Amino acid sequence: MENKIDNAALNPSAMRQTPEGGDSSVAEMDQSFMLAAIALAASAAERGEIPVGALIVQELNGQRHIVGSGGNQRQIDRDPTAHAEIIALRQAGAALKRWQLTDCDLYVTLEPCPMCAGALVNARIRRVIFGCRDPKAGAVTTLFRITDDPRLNHRLEITPDVLSEQCAELLKTFFKSRR
Ligand SMILES: [Zn+2]
Repeated sequence: MENKIDNAALNPSAMRQTPEGGDSSVAEMDQSFMLAAIALAASAAERGEIPVGALIVQELNGQRHIVGSGGNQRQIDRDPTAHAEIIALRQAGAALKRWQLTDCDLYVTLEPCPMCAGALVNARIRRVIFGCRDPKAGAVTTLFRITDDPRLNHRLEITPDVLSEQCAELLKTFFKSRR
């Protein structure tokens, strides 16, 4: 595989065996990938962007590989669609050379907005794991439930509130420093 993801924020130990089962091993794996997403969010903050980070993890032959990653880069790209999830989805599509990501899960530090939740449905992502909830734009559980709406042609499994305090703290610190 030549899925080269060049990102210093990513920890190489993030490539992991798929857990044999049991909720606690899945929870542990989710936390370790969320920590990598938090690192991406922190580097977005250093660039002056709202700190949100996202990772796409593919399950292949019992192993999990990061195939896409991104931090929010709306300012630097001058692009309203340059949310962390969209950057990660585009990278994963390029790495896997396909747009259907049915064998992939998305980790993101903040609950996806309507645009990103729609993109996850379109990409046929298997599961979405997020950090803190977003009372202003959350479209997975909070304001809308786009990713498991039975009227749409694809539904994702949802795991909310993974390391949510750490994810929220990054945002709080960022907005405090800008006041
Ligand atoms: Zn978004």
